Amino acid sequence: MTPHKEKNLARALHQQRESRIARLLEAGRIKSAAEIPADAIPAALELQNPQGTWSPPLFYRDISFRCEDCRKREVWSATQQRWYYEIAKGPVHARAIRCRSCRKKHRDETLRQREMLRLHREKKAAGQT
Ligand SMILES: [Zn+2]
Repeated sequence: MTPHKEKNLARALHQQRESRIARLLEAGRIKSAAEIPADAIPAALELQNPQGTWSPPLFYRDISFRCEDCRKREVWSATQQRWYYEIAKGPVHARAIRCRSCRKKHRDETLRQREMLRLHREKKAAGQT
C-alpha cells in the first residue's frame, strides 16, 4: 500500500469509528465516547442480529479464550467479531468456543452426519415405494 492510500484508509477507519460512536450515543447505549476503549471497534447495533432480550456487544475487542475441544489458547479478534455479528449475522449471545482447526473439524463432522442422514432417508423412502 502506498503511504497515500494508507493515510486514506486510516482516515476512513477513524471516520467509521467516530460515526459508530455517534450512533451509540444517539441511541443512548453509551453516555460517553470514553466507554469505547481505544483498541476496540465500536459496534453498529443496526447491523447486528438482535435476538430478543440479549444485550448486544457495544464494541468488539480481541478476546483470548481456550478451545473447548483441544484446550489451545486462541484469540477471537475484534475484526473477526465484527464480521461474525454484523455481516454473518451471528446471534449476539454467541461466543467463540473452538479454535480455527477444531471449528473446521466440527463443521466437517456436522456436514458428514447431515449427509448420512439424508442418504438414510432417501434409502428409506425408496424402499417404501
Ligand atoms: Zn481446538
